[in-house]
Amino acid sequence: MRLIILTLLLTVAPVLATAQSLANQMFGAHSMPSLQAPEAIGSYANGCAAGLVRLPETGPTWQAMRLSRNRNWGHPDAISYVQDLSRKAVQIGWNGLYIGDISQPRGGPMTSGHASHQIGLDIDIWMLPPTRLNLSRNERENLSSISVRTNDQRSVNSNWTPAHHELLKQAALDPRVDRIFVAAAVKLEMCKTATRADTAWLQKIRPAVGHNYHFHVRLSCPRGNRHCVTQTPTVAELSKGGNGCDETLEWWVTDFLNPPRRERTEPPAPRTRHPREFTMADLPTQCQQVLATQ
Ligand SMILES: [Zn+2]
Repeated sequence: MRLIILTLLLTVAPVLATAQSLANQMFGAHSMPSLQAPEAIGSYANGCAAGLVRLPETGPTWQAMRLSRNRNWGHPDAISYVQDLSRKAVQIGWNGLYIGDISQPRGGPMTSGHASHQIGLDIDIWMLPPTRLNLSRNERENLSSISVRTNDQRSVNSNWTPAHHELLKQAALDPRVDRIFVAAAVKLEMCKTATRADTAWLQKIRPAVGHNYHFHVRLSCPRGNRHCVTQTPTVAELSKGGNGCDETLEWWVTDFLNPPRRERTEPPAPRTRHPREFTMADLPTQCQQVLATQ
């Protein structure tokens, strides 16, 4: 018997040690939020969140998808933003919204998927207009979103509609939003179709890798969250005060897709930490309290 316990301990111990050192696994292990005042702590790709609230799995104008991931938790600002935008989606003719990942119950780095979404302020919203809002748990695991971009990445495809444009415009007009990530082809199309006098909000729509199946809304730090780190450079700085419909956007469908050949003169960039390798020491110290609180 003693031998069995000893063998068991020897096999389990290394697993425990890894779990203790990797913040990803410690945050991933919590199924409920911390009973603290809501607070986003740290930066979008290096932080955690206290007192998050759950987006109800189904509402009159939304459904949370992939429930098995338990990532439908956000800062109260994020949850009310989702609910407000889903009502606007109905006004533009959709049935509502299918909501992808927000954050884990206590935010923090994840064991799979995103590098960001760590502080309860990032929200993925599907490009697929909902057909129904009574999908079963199982359907929400298996249904896929649609891509609105051509395979060559240069333009939108026939899945893109004027309603998508209007939805993204409404999403960006909300003052809680810092920026929204979309495939470059989406922004190019929106730059083409937006009326000239009405493009200030386009500044917040930012080109990014991927983001053809969903768009990613990033909210600003909520007022009073003094450990929340505002992203820099700001969208105003990135677009030099304009709407971002410029040569930096063209780059995504030219040099990004077909990089010009050049001799490597500078040394390779130092290896940065992989998002799966966070330890508690990498995160703001307040995150230890978030983990330890009931
Ligand atoms: Zn995302």
